Amino acid sequence: MKLATTIIHAGMEPDPSTGAIMTPIYQTSTYVQEAPGVNKGFEYARSQNPTRLALETALAAIEGGQFGLAFSSGVAATDAVMKLLVPGDEVIAAADMYGGTYRLFTKVFEKYGIRFHFVDTTQIDEIKKVLSPKTKLVWLETPTNPLMNITDIKAVAAITKRAGVLLCVDNTFASPYLQNPLQLGADIVLHSSTKYLGGHSDVIQGALVMNDPTLREQLYFIQKSCGAVPGPMDCFLVLRGIKTLHLRMERHCENGRKLAHWLRDHPKVEKVYWCGFEDHAGYAVARQQMRDFGGMMSFELKDNSVEAARRVLSGTHLFSLAESLGGVESLINHPASMTHASIPREERLKNGLTDALIRLSVGVEDIEDLIADLSLAIG
Ligand SMILES: *Cc1c(COP(=O)(O)O)cnc(C)c1O
Repeated sequence: MKLATTIIHAGMEPDPSTGAIMTPIYQTSTYVQEAPGVNKGFEYARSQNPTRLALETALAAIEGGQFGLAFSSGVAATDAVMKLLVPGDEVIAAADMYGGTYRLFTKVFEKYGIRFHFVDTTQIDEIKKVLSPKTKLVWLETPTNPLMNITDIKAVAAITKRAGVLLCVDNTFASPYLQNPLQLGADIVLHSSTKYLGGHSDVIQGALVMNDPTLREQLYFIQKSCGAVPGPMDCFLVLRGIKTLHLRMERHCENGRKLAHWLRDHPKVEKVYWCGFEDHAGYAVARQQMRDFGGMMSFELKDNSVEAARRVLSGTHLFSLAESLGGVESLINHPASMTHASIPREERLKNGLTDALIRLSVGVEDIEDLIADLSLAIG
């Protein structure tokens, strides 16, 4: 089955009690049992819920994996992966990644004796340098947030497979429409479903997808034992969002491409970070592992003062100044003070994330209106 068809039909079975074509929102905490231990596969809603099950089936199908698990947020899904580890284990993670992941790793899990090596994962040798028998997990984000760096998933998977180390890829920026890390050798794919999967900026949710049944059992055990499960209404919203993923992504990509080129040609713009430019360092790898380049980008003005950046950030009307990304509406964001404020300034600068960087999540509006809006704000 082709992806567009999978996106529409995955996980969708007519409801057995009524034939309802859409899986109902099973707003229940428990299920009546016929006799002690005799049930229909549903005992208690932290462990099983039919709406969540439909979503988890859909998540697995659209990522090309065997099993999906939904969590109450993207960071809750990250938290579940980290709980596979024990004190003394080491993790190699991308230096340039989502600030909340960095915060969870350094402020929560370091306390429990997990050690993190943050390296430039676009350079495969940097991973090899810190790989040791203590390494249990490699954590990638590609494209990265916010600098759009590209890591070669297949090349990293070759290393982790040989070393017997788990590889988890945060696929939030690409979405399953643009990239499927399991097919490139990853063991676990993570999504902040809050972003492109939900697609309408109306829900917080996370997801994990995997192929290995043992890994699925371990992560399911953590999901039900730690309890960070999404409610049925939120599962319904993400299921509904997924149905238009391919249509939205096509427009995000088309608008992204036009806007990136327009920005690059703008006399007041110094640099645009978008992985679809042929001179982008990760272009060749991106072309191989992604179907298209998406609608996320960042840029810097020639006047690289924070004041100039602030004027643009406050000067748009269609681009709303807000954290998050991947919704149908366009957003503009200042990573240094917003999404990435939890990363120390020296760390940010070391990774190339300047105080004047502006990030865009290009929505699915008419591109002429989006360009006119940014044009006025840049001046
Ligand atoms: C937003 C985001 C997360 C965290 O997800 P939440 O749903 O906000 O908890 C993780 N990774 C990336 C790349 C994100 O953009």
